[in-house]
Amino acid sequence: MYYDHLLVRYGELTLKGTNRKMFVNQLKDNVKRALIPLQGYLVKVKRDRMYVELTEEADMEEIIKRLTQVYGIKSISPVIKIDKKEGLIYQSVIQLAEGFEQNATFKIDVKRVDKTFLYDTYELQRNVGGVILKHFDHLTVNVKQPDHEIKIEVRLDAIYIYEEVVAGSGGLPVGTGGKTLLMLSGGIDSPVAGMEVMKRGVTVEAIHFHSPPFTSEKAKDKVIELTRILAERVGPIKLHIVPFTELQKQINRVVHPRYTMTSTRRMMMRISDVVVHRIDAHAIVNGENLGQVASQTLKSMYAINHVTTTPVLRPLLTLDKEDIIRKAKELGTFEISIQPYEDCCTIFTPKNPVTEPDFDKVEKYEGVYDFDEMIQKAVENIETLIIDRYYKNDKEQSTDALIEDLF
Ligand code: ATP
Ligand code: MG
Repeated sequence: MYYDHLLVRYGELTLKGTNRKMFVNQLKDNVKRALIPLQGYLVKVKRDRMYVELTEEADMEEIIKRLTQVYGIKSISPVIKIDKKEGLIYQSVIQLAEGFEQNATFKIDVKRVDKTFLYDTYELQRNVGGVILKHFDHLTVNVKQPDHEIKIEVRLDAIYIYEEVVAGSGGLPVGTGGKTLLMLSGGIDSPVAGMEVMKRGVTVEAIHFHSPPFTSEKAKDKVIELTRILAERVGPIKLHIVPFTELQKQINRVVHPRYTMTSTRRMMMRISDVVVHRIDAHAIVNGENLGQVASQTLKSMYAINHVTTTPVLRPLLTLDKEDIIRKAKELGTFEISIQPYEDCCTIFTPKNPVTEPDFDKVEKYEGVYDFDEMIQKAVENIETLIIDRYYKNDKEQSTDALIEDLF
């Protein structure tokens, strides 16, 4: 392996003035966590970029793969780091060019941050090009469309030589943007909605409404697995599982059949609101998408949203279903989400739910019973799991998971 470092470029952090230090430190923590339990690397943080020093035992491909999933990283390049000596530059580019295919074309691209360096940009470009041409008969220069572009960065501390630039996920480091509560069902949409806000630096705790025996342990396992996949990217996530059966039964007793779904959503929202305050979060996130189903018309959203003053974020609001599916596939949640399961709502869903619920009517139906106590009881009986990437449902955690806990 000729590469001894990975150069990690920050995303939008550069724009964030005074908060910069906090952002960079958070990104460093997130990177370190993402690389557990890999071996043979050392993370070094600078103001404008990060370096991961690699030893012989490092699995570079795996490290790069994991870095591409960390939000706040724009791109990653495997680099050769050398002292600022002319001879070492030639030696390194020859080493690189040895790997080029027969009759390939190349271009040298120099960036000179250290203006005191022996040669200026143009001279260095020409010298390095000359050395390669002399050493390899079969290679030629092509500045417009080269097969290989060798980049040489002459910086204050060292010279970095590289070719490849791997795109990162962009966004902001998770942990820099406050906390939200994600309403996580077993469907396709809500995991994607969660990821969309995490990409903007926000931490997420998840809440799931579970109605045994109407919904099985399998449905719960599915939500746990979806949470685990999200945790692969962002570290451990708290999952709050709410016992929802009694509330659903009561709704079905007192609310007109066409309005039970609206009411169910409102109760979910009310419980989420209590939890938001308990966990010191500042918004609720869900996977709602305008017009997708009966509960997601504007009038429905109005009636459901009315029970809370907490901001409800709907990152998927205007997306087409096929775009959501594409995102779910990229995220790795799609295959889990499409497994059959009983949604606590579909089971109680009437054949003919109202699509344009009359707000006054919902309030009137619900008004015949005092739901506060039931809501309180549901909240008191929440089961909270901490799900990390190694989480196994049999509760046996691997050593790696324990290491992560310590971290
Ligand atoms: P999803 O694919 O996320 O299930 P959906 O298109 O099936 O979405 P609905 O079932 O109407 O839509 O739910 C809308 C949103 O309400 C979901 O995206 C989710 O955020 C929330 N939600 C629905 N059911 C539950 C549940 N049992 N627990 C937690 N949140 C839920
Ligand atoms: Mg659903």
